[in-house]
Amino acid sequence: MLNPKAKKQASCADDYDSETITVETARQKILEKIHPIDGTEKLTLYQSLNRILAEDIVSKLNVPGHTNSAMDGYTLSGDQLPNNETREYRVIGTAYAGRPFKNENNNDQCQAGECVRIMTGAAMPSNTDTVIMQEHSEKISDTTVRFTTGHRKGQNVRQAGEDIAKGNIVLKQGHHLQPADLGVIASIGIGEISVYRQPRIAFFSTGDELRQIGEPLEKGDIYDSNRYSLYGMLSQLNVEIIDLGVVGDKLEDLREAFATASSKADLVITTGGVSVGEADFVKNIIEEMGKIHIWKIAMKPGRPITFGELDEAVFFGLPGNPVAVMTTFYHFVLPAIQKLSGEGARSPLTFEVKCNSALKKRPGRFECLRGILSRNESGQLTVSVTGKQGSGILTSMSRANCLILLDEDCDGVKIGDNVTVQPFNTYL
Ligand code: AMP
Ligand code: MG
Repeated sequence: MLNPKAKKQASCADDYDSETITVETARQKILEKIHPIDGTEKLTLYQSLNRILAEDIVSKLNVPGHTNSAMDGYTLSGDQLPNNETREYRVIGTAYAGRPFKNENNNDQCQAGECVRIMTGAAMPSNTDTVIMQEHSEKISDTTVRFTTGHRKGQNVRQAGEDIAKGNIVLKQGHHLQPADLGVIASIGIGEISVYRQPRIAFFSTGDELRQIGEPLEKGDIYDSNRYSLYGMLSQLNVEIIDLGVVGDKLEDLREAFATASSKADLVITTGGVSVGEADFVKNIIEEMGKIHIWKIAMKPGRPITFGELDEAVFFGLPGNPVAVMTTFYHFVLPAIQKLSGEGARSPLTFEVKCNSALKKRPGRFECLRGILSRNESGQLTVSVTGKQGSGILTSMSRANCLILLDEDCDGVKIGDNVTVQPFNTYL
């Protein structure tokens, strides 16, 4: 007789059982367990791209610092603009960017009937508030210019502080620094900022069949590819990478590798050995040495996956299958790393497009297919599946430029149906 208390074991082949949680529940549980690292360091702007701000950046300046011209042309008081006929003005000098206008008496006043030749970025002389584009002027001589009607008081002028006002918070703690942010911080004269230290991520592959590149392959051996795709995904993130190589399916070796990894890293990732085979030890060792929070997620590919803790470190035991490694990384490890880094998990960009392929699916679990997003003849974005979708077919991932996400309820897709996609890049 079957033992009614025996728990059903998870394997990649299972479709659904009651212990399995949804992708969304898993993601929430994972994020609840993760605490941002609190170590910080001071870096120059050049070192700060992709780092996470550990302080609010407050401006001590107005940007721009002075009201200035947005055009090359002539500046004058808006009250002096011609009303219903053209009018001539005396040009009393020139204002350049970085070289304000001054007359021989060291004075920058512009009086009625006068204007100042002005270049883009030059500070506005006193009594001026309006710029007439050079193209809308008629030069009569070096000291006389004529303007027509149709201008507006205040036109073509950038106000002091219109980009950043003195005292404002320009960027908040927790912000992920993008190229424009470095420019913005430079624009307020700050060259060094406080950022969170990078999380340290250790990873290793498990499996007796795994060989290093350069080693000969005996029957049944394969080259370890997971460490390379993991390395690739991690390299695109704000992390310090600790590659611990390959560990065979031996309890003692695995215990030692787990101890080393957790002593060095904030987060440990392994691949393989999380299923229910005779050589799948990862789950048991984590139970013994740490704690397991999640074991089964209703997701294909990617089930089972182990999430837990190992001493002070967060632990992810990803499946061995190369595609599952990548899809579970994007769905669970990436948001965990984002939260650990101090920025909080961000949602990936997803949107709906028409699907050119028919996709079979049974309801009850989330599925993640590899897609190619492209434009059709009418310029519309559409997606096609990359072909064979086995969780061992890693070329399906390298051919893809997006994931096609089919939620739990979906019971298949017909050609022409809309599906949700998550692009890998911003380029097709
Ligand atoms: P496992 O989860 O250990 O049962 O592995 C599932 C499948 O993924 C098996 O076919 C393994 O040979 C394969 N696999 C495991 N680790 C790797 C790896 N590092 N690189 C490539 N394939 C792997
Ligand atoms: Mg294995």
